[in-house]
This record gives sequence, structure tokens and C-alpha cells, in this order.
Amino acid sequence: MSDNGKEQNNHENKLKFATKLLHFGSEIDSTTGASSVPIYQASTFHHEDVFNPPVHDYSRSGNPTRQALEDYIALLEGGVRGFAYSSGMAAISSTFMMLSAGDHMIVTEDVYGGTYRLLTSILSRLGIESTFVDMTDLDQVKAALKPNTKAVYMETPSNPTLKITDIAAVTSWAQEHDLLTMLDNTFMTPYYQRPIELGVDIVLHSATKFLGGHSDVLAGLAVARTHSIGTQLKQLQNGLGTVLGVQDSWLLIRGMKTLQARMNHSEQSAAVLAAWLKGRPDIDQVYYPGLLDHPGREVHEKQSTGYGAVVSFDVGSGERAKQVLNKVSIPLVAVSLGAVESILSYPAMMSHAAMPAEVRLERGITDGLLRFSVGLEDIDDLIADLDQALQG
Ligand SMILES: *Cc1c(COP(=O)(O)O)cnc(C)c1O
Repeated sequence: MSDNGKEQNNHENKLKFATKLLHFGSEIDSTTGASSVPIYQASTFHHEDVFNPPVHDYSRSGNPTRQALEDYIALLEGGVRGFAYSSGMAAISSTFMMLSAGDHMIVTEDVYGGTYRLLTSILSRLGIESTFVDMTDLDQVKAALKPNTKAVYMETPSNPTLKITDIAAVTSWAQEHDLLTMLDNTFMTPYYQRPIELGVDIVLHSATKFLGGHSDVLAGLAVARTHSIGTQLKQLQNGLGTVLGVQDSWLLIRGMKTLQARMNHSEQSAAVLAAWLKGRPDIDQVYYPGLLDHPGREVHEKQSTGYGAVVSFDVGSGERAKQVLNKVSIPLVAVSLGAVESILSYPAMMSHAAMPAEVRLERGITDGLLRFSVGLEDIDDLIADLDQALQG
């Protein structure tokens, strides 16, 4: 990077988050002044002089549009290098390739379903072993340590019951044992939570969710805390070929520019929704880290500046959950979350359908549990709609 680039970066690092979202370094095309990053729809790059190759030579190894996105997420997370992948699972699976056969990982028990399947049905076959623990309890994390443990994988708040892991506590313990730490930051985004500042080595995202924000792009991102981790991730991304295409890179950049405005609106509405649900005698449980009686609230407030836009609640039975899903008219009834439109999911039959029923129930993922990802609609309309759906 040129000295100029460095100066510019230092300048950007001092800016507040909302400003960084719009002024991240490549928001203006340096050759034409165009007001957005150009889509470099090219797979390869001409070598004017074979002894002096261009910066990018082949789009799997590097493309200026994808590079702009990768620099953007690195800036937002406060890391040294970012990577963009074809999906959240591509980001996670490529990152897991940092491990080798014979290695062991400690993983949060309520990890995203796709990550659970990757660990238990694919990585296990390659000789990479994992132990799932309740990460709200640091003693359980410590007890899972083995001589071959190499990494700790966190997700906080977790899905769908929004359990909280103490990021700094787990990370400082992991550092004492030379373990690599990874954290899936999909639910919070760098606007509310920046794990690298708490010592986490690799931050991962399903950018399909809040970062993209419009239910129209599938993408994953990773950010490295150090140059040496960045070099390893680069080798894996290029070697595995799990890169994000240029059109989707551009769409993701466009979505991310409004992240703070979207999160603020959705979070405000989520707090109103959680309080409204909490006040209803016909709702068994409400899970939202912003509620006063949320068991992880204190830890969450220490490491995040917001509570997010996802509220889960238990309507009492599978029958009632199905009634609500059939009767709501505003939210999308679907898997996924983090979009401009509200999305109502049914974990027992969608994201967690593959989980054995007894494990599912033990984790609070009952037949009556619904997950509401609050979008940008007027909250009065969302509540009125949910109210009529609950009435039966
Ligand atoms: C959706 C999701 C993923 C997987 O991301 P894809 O983009 O669907 O591959 C990983 N982690 C969390 C927390 C998610 O919500």
C-alpha cells in the first residue's frame, strides 16, 4: 500500500462508525470519479509487461470490486484484512481449513445449524474433532480443553435463544493456551459488536443477513486480527476458490452503506416488540438481550453497544405457533433474518429441524418457539398484525 493509502486509512480509523460506512476509502472511483465502486466484470487482467504484472491478475486471486468490499469490512471490524466469500458457510468452512487432521475445537453448543452440520458430518470425517459446550459458562469451556485443542468458536448472541458468551473472558483464556479464536458476528454486525477489539482472531459473517440487509444477496465475510492470520486466510480463500462474485460484492457494498440506519430503526422496534410480548400473559417466554431479566444482559452490555433486531418468543405450543405463522400478513415467513422486511421463522421446523427433538427441547427450542427478525415496517403495524395472529 502506498504512503498515501496509509494516511487515508489512519484518517478513516478516527472517523465515527456512521461516517466510515459511507467513506471507507474506495467509495469514489479513482479513475473516473464515479460515485460507486465500479463492477469489474472480468475474470483475468492483461499483463502490459510480463515482468511487471498488474495488481490483480485473476479474479479468484483478486478483483478490485471484491477488494473494495474486503477492505470495507476490515475497516468496520477494526481488523487488518478482510475476505469475501460466496456465502456465510463458505466463509466459515474456508476458515475452518486453518485446522488440520487430529486437531480439536471447542464450539458453542447453540452454534448456527449449518456450522453444526459442517463440524459433525464433514470436518469430523477429515479428522477435525469438536466438543460443544454451553459457552455462557466459562468453566465448561475450560473443561473441554484437550492436548490437541487448537481453536475456540463463539457465536453471541446465539440463535435462536440469544444466549450470551463473555467474549473477553473466553478470548483471554484461549490466548493463555495458544488457541485460535473465531466468532460468528452475524447477529450483531460491527455496528454493535467488534470482537477483534476484544482480542478475537477471526470474525465471521453471514453477510446474507444484516450486512446485505435486503434478502437479495448470499455472501460471507471474514476479518483477520493479524497479518499472519490474514496471510493464511488469503491462501485458503484462493486455494479453495470460495470467493464472492463481483456483482454480489457490489450489491453487498451498497447494502452495507445503510447498516447503521437500518439497525437503529430495527432495534428500536425490536425493543418495543419484546416489551409488548413480555406484557402478554399468553406468551411463555421472550428472549431478547435488552430485556431486564435476560440472564446475559450484563455481559452483553459490556461487549456490545446494542441489542439487535432479533426477538424470539414461545407461544406455548406447536399448534399455536403454526396458527401464528399462517395468520401473520406482514412478515415474510421464512428462514433467514436481518432484512429490510420483517422475517418470522419457525426454528423447530426450519433452522433446527435436523436437531434431535430431545436436544432441541433441552436448548429451549420448543415447538412453540418463533423467531422474529424485525425489519423497517412501522412497529404499530407489526404489533397489530402479530396481535390478530395470536388471537386465533
Ligand atoms: C445464516 C447464518 C450463517 C450461514 O450463512 P449463509 O450465508 O446462509 O451461508 C452462519 N451463521 C449465522 C449466525 C447465520 O445466521
